[in-house]
Amino acid sequence: MTESFAQPARIESAQGHVHDHDPVARARRLGLSGGIAGGGMPNLFDYDRQGLRDLFAQLGEKPYRAEQVMKWMYHRRVTDFDAMTDIGKALRDKLSSEVRIVPPNTLLEKQAGDGTYKWLLGVDGKNAVESVFIPETSRGTLCVSTQVGCGLNCQFCSTTTQGFNRNLDAAEIIGQVWVAAKHLGNVPHHQRKLTNVVLMGMGEPLLNFGNVVTAMSVMRDDLGFGLANKRVTLSTSGLAPMIDKLASVSDVSLSVSLHAPNDELRTELVPLNKKYPIDTVLAACARYAARRPRTTVTFGYIMLKGVNDKPEHARQLVKLMRRLPAKVNLIPFNPFPGARFECSDETTIRAFQKILLDANVLTMVRRTRGDDIDAACGQLKGQVVDRTRRQAEFRRTLAKDVAHAA
Ligand code: SAH
Repeated sequence: MTESFAQPARIESAQGHVHDHDPVARARRLGLSGGIAGGGMPNLFDYDRQGLRDLFAQLGEKPYRAEQVMKWMYHRRVTDFDAMTDIGKALRDKLSSEVRIVPPNTLLEKQAGDGTYKWLLGVDGKNAVESVFIPETSRGTLCVSTQVGCGLNCQFCSTTTQGFNRNLDAAEIIGQVWVAAKHLGNVPHHQRKLTNVVLMGMGEPLLNFGNVVTAMSVMRDDLGFGLANKRVTLSTSGLAPMIDKLASVSDVSLSVSLHAPNDELRTELVPLNKKYPIDTVLAACARYAARRPRTTVTFGYIMLKGVNDKPEHARQLVKLMRRLPAKVNLIPFNPFPGARFECSDETTIRAFQKILLDANVLTMVRRTRGDDIDAACGQLKGQVVDRTRRQAEFRRTLAKDVAHAA
């Protein structure tokens, strides 16, 4: 469930139309549970295939019509019902008056010297989030945001300095993929430029569970972006009960931001560790990995000079990684204004990696990309307004979601 019912009834859509409908009444009449942020009518980007089929049934239409529309949206990237030529005029008119297809607004697009793109996307009148596309020789990875800001307060991350405002709707999450695919001229099921999606932008995906699962379902659907499960990666700071909940509905790749090999240090860097200490998180990861053969969990470990980069830390990490099929991703720290850390030296990072590799722990060092446009990991800021008012609400949601999952 999103917060969108709080949206004003009169709002301008991305196309500049003004809808005067009462969103609450309309949504109630249709019995909808999908988000309707940014306007009075349900936004089809808020639904996965099953959700769209149900929505069309509620509109008195055949469910296969939903699949036709989905193909137009994601394969041909058409948002105007009138351009959907295999759908009769009467239905097109009905859809135009009952529902809408509105992607996020691109406020700014930047390209870095290394080919990395960054988009600043307006998700309502006030807030904006960032997504980043990282092209490599054999793949192209889009990093998407799941919340406006973040409330977890990880000490090395610039998103946290923005505070938390709200969860993104499913439409605002899948919309980031849609905008990037459109820009890149991505053709699903052909030579693709966009081959991977990582939920590693702003926010904690497991605290926006329903919308994230819906958006991931479209990422993987043949009628959506058709990405294989392993090419969609959810990154979490370690909400153990929600990892189990994810295991019950999804098979995506899991990445956990560990960053420290003992509880004392981890609690300092990732305050959530107080609630879910390393043992608890690793146990949930082991259960996630155990569901299917050949599943590994990736552990992110940010390299902070003099803080977590000593040989003893590497040795402690080796012991933890022996408990489950795991890979380690060493992430050079990217500085931002006001940060109180420095990145470890290259030689320290290599020495740390060697200890892990010598102990047979598969370990990569992440290459920093897009730093000339502030698109590197941990540098995403977007535009987060109104955050103080929302902090209390965020803490309530955290308590509620986690209690619900447990
Ligand atoms: N909340 C989730 C999803 C956000 S992912 C999570 O924590 O996993 C954000 C990613 O950026 C994580 O991999 C994190 O380790 C990385 N990151 C955050 N701040 C960073 C910084 N200053 N430099 C480099 N990486 C950073």
